[in-house]
Amino acid sequence: MANPKVAFFKFSSCAGCLLNVLNIEPVLLTVLSVIDIEYFVMAKRDNHHGPYTIGFVEGAVTTPKEVLELKKIREECAILVAMGACACTGGVPSIKNFSGMNQDQLTKTVYAENIYDPFLASIPAKGIDFYVKVDAYLRGCSYDLGEFVELIKRALKGEDPLFRPHSVCNECKLKENVCLLVSKGQPCMGSVSAAGCGALCPSLNRQCEGCRGPANDCNAASLAKTFMEDLGLSKDDVVRKFRKYAGNTPEFSKGAEAAL
Ligand code: SF4
Ligand code: SF4
Ligand code: SF4
Repeated sequence: MANPKVAFFKFSSCAGCLLNVLNIEPVLLTVLSVIDIEYFVMAKRDNHHGPYTIGFVEGAVTTPKEVLELKKIREECAILVAMGACACTGGVPSIKNFSGMNQDQLTKTVYAENIYDPFLASIPAKGIDFYVKVDAYLRGCSYDLGEFVELIKRALKGEDPLFRPHSVCNECKLKENVCLLVSKGQPCMGSVSAAGCGALCPSLNRQCEGCRGPANDCNAASLAKTFMEDLGLSKDDVVRKFRKYAGNTPEFSKGAEAAL
């Protein structure tokens, strides 16, 4: 049986998620022996058109040109995966959606006048599922490499991707970490953030910043109030926390709105 054809695409992003693919050194050769990478501009010169079995998309959609490209990619990919926070929820690029500036002001603030191209006019930054159906999500900034390999394995076996609905706190407790929020008064977002990273940041004594987006049934409004009333964070700081990676989501919107 032929290997599945895999493609990697990039929209508005830092390219960290694509670079991360190349970080799976211990299993890279094994993975390459069971898939054919047909399109990956960052990693190879010889790239081919679809159709593809799996397409991984990094980056938020921020221009009309990207919307058209994304729709074409969707048609070419049997399985479409949003790879990283930018593609899943809009990620860091989506901070601009809440800047209070209109697109013209934003463009002039970010770009020098002489490189501004009207063809690439900026639109609000969105995750890719705002425009097309997405079959699986690799959450996080960047995503967990174990989840990436797991997703490929499951796709090869024809199994649906796993979705972890619980919060980072669950993983943090399993690691028996001292709670940064309760014991040290730090504004950790683990209780509202989706698990899967193995509580990476709290395990390194750093508060969770919510890069994987909201956990199921999370109560972001309650956490926002805790940050302000118990920890003394300013309204602006709380709003920024909930809009850093997933301000487009209804769940984290409630966190930001509770502070406003
Ligand atoms: S999710 Fe983070 S690492 Fe990935 S492309 Fe976006 S900003 Fe870069
Ligand atoms: S440190 Fe953060 S992730 Fe860990 S239990 Fe406390 S609030 Fe949850
Ligand atoms: S602990 Fe929070 S910020 Fe850190 S990787 Fe996990 S979800 Fe992202």
